[in-house]
Amino acid sequence: MFDVIIAGGGPTGCMLAAELRLHGLQVLVLEKDAEPSKVVRGLGLHVRSVEVMDQRGMLERFLEHGKQHPFASFFAGITKPVPRLDTAHAYTLGIPQNVTDRLLAEYAVEVGAELRRGCELAGLSQDDDGVTAELVDGTQLHSRYLVGCDGGRSTVRKLLGVGFPGEPSTTETLLGEAAATASAEELAAATAEIRKTQLRFGFMPLADGGYRFVVPADGVAEDRAVPPTLDEVRQQLRAVAGTDFGVHSPRWLSRFGDATRLAERYRVGRVLLAGDAAHVHPPLGGQGLNLGVQDAFNLGWKLAAEIGGWAPGGLLDSYETERRPVAADVLNNTRAQSVLVSTEPGPQAVRRLLAELMDFEDVNRFLVEKITGIGIRYDFGEGPGLLGRRLRDVRLTQGRLYELTHHGRGLLLDQTGRLSVARWADRVDHVVDRSEELAESAVLLRPDGHVAWAGDDQQTLEQHLPRWFGTPDPARRP
Ligand SMILES: Cc1cc2nc3c(=O)[nH]c(=O)nc-3n(C[C@H](O)[C@H](O)[C@H](O)COP(=O)(O)OP(=O)(O)OC[C@H]3O[C@@H](n4cnc5c(N)ncnc54)[C@H](O)[C@@H]3O)c2cc1C
Repeated sequence: MFDVIIAGGGPTGCMLAAELRLHGLQVLVLEKDAEPSKVVRGLGLHVRSVEVMDQRGMLERFLEHGKQHPFASFFAGITKPVPRLDTAHAYTLGIPQNVTDRLLAEYAVEVGAELRRGCELAGLSQDDDGVTAELVDGTQLHSRYLVGCDGGRSTVRKLLGVGFPGEPSTTETLLGEAAATASAEELAAATAEIRKTQLRFGFMPLADGGYRFVVPADGVAEDRAVPPTLDEVRQQLRAVAGTDFGVHSPRWLSRFGDATRLAERYRVGRVLLAGDAAHVHPPLGGQGLNLGVQDAFNLGWKLAAEIGGWAPGGLLDSYETERRPVAADVLNNTRAQSVLVSTEPGPQAVRRLLAELMDFEDVNRFLVEKITGIGIRYDFGEGPGLLGRRLRDVRLTQGRLYELTHHGRGLLLDQTGRLSVARWADRVDHVVDRSEELAESAVLLRPDGHVAWAGDDQQTLEQHLPRWFGTPDPARRP
């Protein structure tokens, strides 16, 4: 019997597995592909995901394989100088998704999760005690909970009968990596010219001399899981650019649509959904992977608390109440961006107007914080400005805040030295230190780094602790 079975070993599934392992749970990740896919979808991590990696001590390995880019073209490709952001990581980390996927899978296994490749979940049933997962070969596996991180066509979501309302794809884009006989100058000039009227076209040079390209498809395929042929790609390049640039020797070819959908529920009993299994949207702004990784970061400690027996009532359901509105907001901004990249006169006029509005720093900041995920504020009720927001990394007299959060526990950062979380000591760490970058006397952080309380007196602290960390250990007296 596993504590948790995760269907899908993509970035969401592996991040969740690693989070659960921090709490010592027995975790099995089922991945249907026998080998990692060669297709490179996403190209980067935004600020909040970079912070998440830092919070768990994984950032060094990501920085080693990625490139720090100053922000650019973050909203519908409208480029503006970026305002100063409240983060220690004010950059986009350029890193191909296949590298992110690999690093997360390696990390999950390193911390003790079991990843079984070539195992496709095909059925599931649940009762009050647990879940039975059935694989395509008929093998049955048992766990206390199961999480569907199995992508936009999620089998788990379909088996649960959870609705996935929204808009179907109306356009499709071909994507791939290949060599070309045309010169780099010719490809750059064609890209610049065509993108004046068609933003779904482009050739991006890769470090090894090849190119990553995108070009609109002719219509919408019945089954987007079937990759395009090289002939189809050449034909579309000729249709859009008048030449196929001599593309040849593709490494991989793929296609993606622009469907926008949000799962009606994120939880049915002991089965939950996360990542693309719960939400899909066009890749504008590069947000999907980031959203999934942050779903996992929100869910992991809550599920661990539930299984560990100390979760206060409603904690596990707060995963949906916190994360579903965040996904709805991302769907909304990608819908808006889809309209803004249209070449029709109306959308172009709105785009010009928005570009002018973005000269106001507050507007610009609002949009950057949305795309990068650092503007998220969960609704924890009335309270100080930081309540419900993630706390950025701050320097302390001894080290820095994020170095103290690698174990995924709650944390009281106490600048007064007068407070105590002794009765929750099995779930919450207490650090007495000072930071010139933190105005609050003390902050209580959840394991995902969101501020659960800020203040300076023991009484209100003790009123807030049970909401996230349950009833105190009776063995520990006040
Ligand atoms: C062209 C393009 C560019 C993108 N660019 C960005 C970007 O720059 N930044 C960004 O944040 N996002 C980007 N995205 C979105 C990003 O790729 C996805 O949001 C992300 O991969 C979702 O991660 P996931 O783990 O939830 O799902 P997936 O990555 O889809 O992983 C799901 C996994 O589940 C497995 N699986 C499926 N069914 C089963 C089953 N029945 N049993 C077992 N395993 C199963 C699959 O094989 C897969 O490995 C882009 C997407 C596209 C198409």
